[in-house]
Amino acid sequence: MKITDIIKRGKPTLSFEVFPPKTDSALEGVRAAAAEIAGLSPAYMSVTYGAGGSTAGYTAEIASSLLALGTTPLAHLTCIGASRESIREKLTDLRARGVENVLALRGDLPEGIDGNALSFRHASDLAEEICSFGGFCIGGACYPEKHPESTDSDSDVEALAVKVASGCSFLTTQMFFDNSILYNFLYRLLRRGIDVPVVAGIMPVTNAAQIKRICSISGAALPARFLRIVERYGDNPAAMKQAGIAFATEQIVDLYANGVSAVHVYSMNKPDVAAAIYANLSEILA
Ligand code: FAD
Repeated sequence: MKITDIIKRGKPTLSFEVFPPKTDSALEGVRAAAAEIAGLSPAYMSVTYGAGGSTAGYTAEIASSLLALGTTPLAHLTCIGASRESIREKLTDLRARGVENVLALRGDLPEGIDGNALSFRHASDLAEEICSFGGFCIGGACYPEKHPESTDSDSDVEALAVKVASGCSFLTTQMFFDNSILYNFLYRLLRRGIDVPVVAGIMPVTNAAQIKRICSISGAALPARFLRIVERYGDNPAAMKQAGIAFATEQIVDLYANGVSAVHVYSMNKPDVAAAIYANLSEILA
């Protein structure tokens, strides 16, 4: 099923993310975690793509195993450093496996790469390529607090308009911890005439060590009330996990209540975290 058909129904939806293993020996564990999360019957599940790695092929494999379990997969695909032929090969493989949804991403720029010499410079170039290949529902990434490489929010939103014009029919946000940042961002998109569905990405922070990494990768601001939670419970893993799940749940309830009906949880291959959030929302999603 196409993700736009799922999220355009307007009912609150919850989806989850898994990432493929870095080593072959970890594949079975990831597959088992993905199957357990699929058992919660989420609206769909995304499978991230490890750019360039030897296990990059696992994205398609895990996506098709989700399909076999009756869960709609969204396969991520990055284009940085890829040739047109290799992208077409990946799309052919996904199509043969019955995967209908692709999140078109640039990937992080490796240091020292001359962007001008690449076949694909931006995610929008990949979205165009997938569009001309045909048959996929294409999504793209967006950044409520702007992409770290962008000089200002306006130019980031302009680039997003190009992404949508290139064929992205829905967008998924980078994680954010303050819903007012998302509401502001949605307003700016509408003002620019970007009216495709936006799926809100929520990261349950379940251990204190995650926080530094998250902020350096995403540039996401942490609200003071969240920092108080980390200060208070960061040294107690069980309490921090419970508090992180509660914080994420509260964010999701507020999003649904304010009309953001599609929420994606960065569940990081953790079925217990996905299940706890799902249980907290059971009546809301019923
Ligand atoms: P782009 O859309 O190309 O944007 C990158 C920068 O270029 C931005 O500053 C943008 O404003 C600018 N830009 C874009 N288009 C234009 C244009 N036409 N003209 C001028 N400037 C432009 N990484 C992985 O490796 N694997 C994954 O599976 C993965 N999944 C992700 C899922 C989500 C929801 C998100 C938010 C990120 C994900 N990432 C993943 C990280 C992503 O690859 C990085 O954030 C990367 O740096 C940018 O990717 P992008 O697709 O947003 O790039």
